[in-house]
Amino acid sequence: MTHDTDAGFGTQAVHSGRGYTGNTGAVMPPVYLTSTFEQGNADGFDYTRSGNPNFRLLQESIAALEGSQFATCFASGVSAITAVISTLKSGDLVLAEENLYGCTYRLFERVFNKFGVQARYVDLTREENWEQIRQARPALVWLESPTNPLLKIIDIAGIAKVAAEAGAATVVDNTFASPYLQRPLELGATLSLASSTKYINGHSDALGGVVATNDPVWHKRMDFAQKALGLQPSPFDAWLITRGKRTLALRMERHCANALELARFLEGHAGIRSVRYPYLPSHPQYELARRQMSGGSGIVIAELDAPTDKTLEFCRKLRLFTLAESLGGVESLVCHPATMTHAGVPPSVRRAVGISDGLIRFSVGVEDAADLRRDIEQALTEVLR
Ligand SMILES: *Cc1c(COP(=O)(O)O)cnc(C)c1O
Repeated sequence: MTHDTDAGFGTQAVHSGRGYTGNTGAVMPPVYLTSTFEQGNADGFDYTRSGNPNFRLLQESIAALEGSQFATCFASGVSAITAVISTLKSGDLVLAEENLYGCTYRLFERVFNKFGVQARYVDLTREENWEQIRQARPALVWLESPTNPLLKIIDIAGIAKVAAEAGAATVVDNTFASPYLQRPLELGATLSLASSTKYINGHSDALGGVVATNDPVWHKRMDFAQKALGLQPSPFDAWLITRGKRTLALRMERHCANALELARFLEGHAGIRSVRYPYLPSHPQYELARRQMSGGSGIVIAELDAPTDKTLEFCRKLRLFTLAESLGGVESLVCHPATMTHAGVPPSVRRAVGISDGLIRFSVGVEDAADLRRDIEQALTEVLR
């Protein structure tokens, strides 16, 4: 089935990215494990670094889910981020939200900084800081919403408008929300980027990244970066992600319901200093989250009233939450950002943005909520004893 723009999200998630059945009647597409293609073929393929039927199917699917004209797939979220930053030139400025995924920060500071691309970090939840977009005239405004790991909610429509007036493109890393809960391009962003390793694939068995846009110039740049920088995924990973995204709507519903239940349970529990979840009324940007997203997604953060060793002990006592990096899979995971995902961020920077040693990030899976609650309860009882 091709792009039926009248169909609902769940229908598009299931039906997009099929095609290429030839005369076989196969309901699902094959994996095109080929590095090269015979010259002059009708579909215009030449070499897998610059295109493969599995990439095309995945790209069509992502465009359908993001409501975009174009999408380009990459080997990982970091590849997608590299593709976007590689379009800049020496002297260009990126104005970024100060709470960024650790590897995005590392790319700016340890790779692209050497080529003269400068990143400046500000708290974009404070509207008075948007003035800096008008004054500094950056090439790009970069944000995540919700942010990793603090779950700050950034006003995409408000910022995209200011950025457009200043001639800057707005890039939204939509990994934590997924296109099921939030579509940045409809809010005015220029690019919607995601690590498809997380919710879009949802099964923790492949890495991938995507960039969606309605701007043909940006689409050309992304396709160029895919082949020129060698950022393409393997056909098999593209196939896995095309399969994974078919159940995105179902999974996100369950992630949202489970996470909200656990967030409510943790809030006010002995030994927990604070809890943050976009759909809890105590969240500082609760109203904005309700407006901008159709659900709170599956990530909950909590601050334990404990030092690093006790916090890690709590994580290890959990039986259903595996202590591991990554998020967005059907299985629950727990992460200690200060020693894991954000270990590469200098401690002073980490503390300044609010990533304390007692901070825990739960990626709430699609298991039975009652079992997850019991698991957290027993681990808390053990370490608080
Ligand atoms: C994981 C993640 C990435 C990087 O994706 P990979 O697929 O691991 O390269 C980028 N942004 C956010 C918000 C992430 O959580």
